[in-house]
Amino acid sequence: MEVSLSPEHEAFRREVRDFLERELTSEMKQAAAYCPGIFLDYEHNMAWHRVLYQKGWVAPAWPAEYGGTGWDLMQRYIWTTETTLAGAPSTAPMGLGMCGPMLIGHGTEEQKRYYLPRILSGEDYWCQGYSEPASGSDLASLKLKAETDGDDFILNGSKIWTTHAHYANRMFVLVRSDDTGKPQDGITFLLLDMDSPGISVEPILFASGTHEVNQVFFDQVRVPKRNIVGEENHGWTVAKYLLEFERGGGGAARFHTALKQLRQLAEHTDAAGQRLVDDPAFAAKLDATQVRIEAIQFTEFRIMAAIAGGGSPGPESSIMKTMGADMGQYLSELMVETLGFYATPHQPDARSVGQNVPAIGPEAGVTAFPRYFNLRASSIAGGSNEVQRNIMAKLVLGL
Ligand SMILES: Cc1cc2nc3c(=O)[nH]c(=O)nc-3n(C[C@H](O)[C@H](O)[C@H](O)COP(=O)(O)OP(=O)(O)OC[C@H]3O[C@@H](n4cnc5c(N)ncnc54)[C@H](O)[C@@H]3O)c2cc1C
Repeated sequence: MEVSLSPEHEAFRREVRDFLERELTSEMKQAAAYCPGIFLDYEHNMAWHRVLYQKGWVAPAWPAEYGGTGWDLMQRYIWTTETTLAGAPSTAPMGLGMCGPMLIGHGTEEQKRYYLPRILSGEDYWCQGYSEPASGSDLASLKLKAETDGDDFILNGSKIWTTHAHYANRMFVLVRSDDTGKPQDGITFLLLDMDSPGISVEPILFASGTHEVNQVFFDQVRVPKRNIVGEENHGWTVAKYLLEFERGGGGAARFHTALKQLRQLAEHTDAAGQRLVDDPAFAAKLDATQVRIEAIQFTEFRIMAAIAGGGSPGPESSIMKTMGADMGQYLSELMVETLGFYATPHQPDARSVGQNVPAIGPEAGVTAFPRYFNLRASSIAGGSNEVQRNIMAKLVLGL
């Protein structure tokens, strides 16, 4: 897709490029390039978060009145494209991408006034307490028990797959506050402090060795009822609203950049004097991928337009989620195919192998396989692809 820019947008692009040139340190770029997982570690994503906060650019998707940038759609497009091309780290989605928009839509004025500035400044780092050992796709069956004690709830039970719970100081959590009626009717949406007595966080390591997710245990944890978002026993609506933002996040700029990198690598001449890009079957795969990424870009624009108009992403977010998960996985497969020998999983000195082949670069050799493995999770995390297709069938196609 060719995008021609107006003089104002061209000036904005220059401003963004100057900013990135000035503020993005080589350490931050390295951290992003070598990140083997889905999420960057706390230290580096917060370092970048703070730089963006100082500039007032940390929450482009939020309405301006709550600290957003007030950018139009083209500025948002320029921003995501330029940051991706420059190799900037990502910011953590749980606060900026999920909790913030959820509070803007459903929080009380007091909750917004207290929590939103702390998300923007990075003072609060959030994790998401939805899934439980026996409740994932069928989330409404969740059991983390919340019993009333005066003005508080007492929580007992467990949450699982909780991304970055080992860094977070806050959790938004779904609890079972009533089990007498329909499962959806007895769920309450709560905000809690991770240092509350009775909470313990146990790591779960991925096959790649990275630590991103955890199991969180609750033993007699006291949470004030003033921390309820929405109404007691009616948190399901709030929970679904937040999921639209979780699933509606974009990714086209990242995919465009990854495809560009793949094309460059495929132009490398190997020891036998051959280039992968000259293989018609492989070249056709790259072209077909380009078309699919354009479709993702189009869907992303539609969702950005819905949010800019004051709405939420809607059930179309499930289309975005599924296409994005599939594309991330496919690009990681193409990367392994492109690197061939240089992507072998057990290279004792993968960095030096990459350095000997300039077209590859050390980071591609080191991260290709861990990313390939980690990205298998993306068609499960945030709601599995099968479940997203059920939602599309029901709410988008009306079947
Ligand atoms: C990397 C990662 C990070 C995560 N981070 C978080 C987090 O921060 N917070 C959080 O709360 N959760 C998190 N999750 C959990 C995630 O939301 C769940 O794993 C997901 O919703 C699936 O639930 P499950 O794992 O219990 O699988 P199950 O629900 O047991 O599903 C097993 C399989 O059955 C299929 N299936 C189930 N029901 C249906 C159906 N009705 N129709 C068709 N197929 C079906 C599924 O598609 C899947 O293939 C994370 C998961 C991963 C992998």
